[in-house]
Amino acid sequence: MDKELIQQIRDKARNLLKEGTVEGVIGYERASDDLTSRPLFAYSPSDTERLIFDETCAHNLVKYLLDKKGKKIAVVVKPCDSRAINLLLNEGQIERDNVFIIGVGCPGMVETNWNHKSETLQAKCRTCQLFKPVVYDFLAGGEIERQAEEETYSDITEEEAKSVATRREFWLEQFGRCIRCYACRQVCPGCYCPVCFAERLDPLWVGIRIAPEENDMWQTIRSFHLAGRCIGCNECERVCPVDIPLSLLNRKLEKDVKELFAFQAGLDPEEAPPFATFKKEEVMEFEK
Ligand code: SF4
Ligand code: SF4
Ligand code: SF4
Repeated sequence: MDKELIQQIRDKARNLLKEGTVEGVIGYERASDDLTSRPLFAYSPSDTERLIFDETCAHNLVKYLLDKKGKKIAVVVKPCDSRAINLLLNEGQIERDNVFIIGVGCPGMVETNWNHKSETLQAKCRTCQLFKPVVYDFLAGGEIERQAEEETYSDITEEEAKSVATRREFWLEQFGRCIRCYACRQVCPGCYCPVCFAERLDPLWVGIRIAPEENDMWQTIRSFHLAGRCIGCNECERVCPVDIPLSLLNRKLEKDVKELFAFQAGLDPEEAPPFATFKKEEVMEFEK
C-alpha cells in the first residue's frame, strides 16, 4: 500500500467533513477478509482513518452518488471511474456543485475474490490509457506512470470474424446461464431508470421468466441502452456471479461507436453521447 497516498486521501476527507464542505465521503476500506477492499461511507472525521487505496479497490463508487442526490458528497475516483462522473453530469443526474471529487492516479486493479488476491491485472487495466482522472477537485498522489498496451480490440475482431450462427449459439448459451439477479444493472453507473424495462409490466418489454429467450432480450436491450454511454469500468462483468463475458458486448459497442462517431463516453462532460443528439435530418447509410 502507498502510505503517503492513503494519508493524503484521509487528510483531505477528514478536512472536508470537519469544515462541513461535505456531508459524507465515499471511499474504500479494508474488507473483513483483511485482504480485499469494500466501499466505505464516512460521515464523521474519525471514520476517515479507515480509508485505504490499493490494487484491490476495483469498485466504481460513482454509482453511489445517484443515491445521494441533493447532498454534498465527496467520492474517491480512479481515472476510469471519473468518466462515469462526466456521464452523469452530462445526463443531468448529478450536480457538479454537490460533488467533491478526490481523484487518484491508478496503478491498475488486480483480480480479487473473497479472501483471494491474484497478481494478475484486470484485462481493462492492461490497455487503460488514463493516468489521472478526467475530472477531479483534488488529486491525491499526483499523476502516476504506468505502462499501457495499445487497445487493439483483438478480442472483438476475433468475435466479429465468426459467423452469425456461431455467435448466436455462443450468446444463447451465455444468456442461458443468466440468473437475472440484476447485479450487472445495479452496479452500472449508466443504469439508473427508476423502473427498469426488465421489470416493467405495462408495457411489457421483456418477460420476467428466467429462460434463454427472455434473458436474451434483457441483455440485448441493456447493452443497447449503454451504447455510446458505457464508460468501460467493467463492473458489470466483475460482479456477474455466473461469469458471463459482458465486456465482449460492451466493448463491441464501444468499438463501433468509436469508429462511427469518434466518441468515447465520459471523456468530456460537455459532449453528449451520439444517441442523445439524434436529429431528424440525420441519415445513416448501411450496407445492404
Ligand atoms: S482501467 Fe485504468 S483507471 Fe481503471 S482501474 Fe484499470 S488502470 Fe485503473
Ligand atoms: S455497462 Fe458495465 S462497463 Fe459499461 S458502464 Fe455499465 S458497469 Fe461499466
Ligand atoms: S449479473 Fe450476470 S447473472 Fe446477474 S443479471 Fe447480470 S448477466 Fe445475469
